Amino acid sequence: MPPTQDCLQCGKCCEKWGWGQKGVIEDLIPWILAKRQDILEHVLIRFTNGKQCTGCTISEDDLSNIVRIDYWTDSNGRTITYCPFFWRRDDGKVYCKIHNTKPRVCIGFTPWNEGIRDYALECPACRNSSP
Ligand code: SF4
Ligand code: SF4
Repeated sequence: MPPTQDCLQCGKCCEKWGWGQKGVIEDLIPWILAKRQDILEHVLIRFTNGKQCTGCTISEDDLSNIVRIDYWTDSNGRTITYCPFFWRRDDGKVYCKIHNTKPRVCIGFTPWNEGIRDYALECPACRNSSP
């Protein structure tokens, strides 16, 4: 059982890994149902027939033909090298603008879990656990 620790919202992990991530169909479903075009426009979708588009133009009927999902892109489908939902507020902490519906890859990120720990990140929430 990995130790439970609190994220200090420093934002280092979102800055380092908040882009260039692969997505899953389970992320897309709630975004499509809720018509979250603000999120879907930043998602690159590739289909079995080789075509690609942003998530804005897909429906539930397309889900079975998707072979790859990438985060994040601009509204023209070009890859961007930052997360568009990263938000550093005046209190110095970083907040996720889509916290309640963020991708699984973000929900599951707990660097104090030994299995996925990356010491180069120097996550401040990990400092009280030995390497
Ligand atoms: S690097 Fe660690 S403390 Fe900072 S936001 Fe990521 S998980 Fe939280
Ligand atoms: S979607 Fe939210 S949690 Fe994920 S990288 Fe962007 S700001 Fe961080």
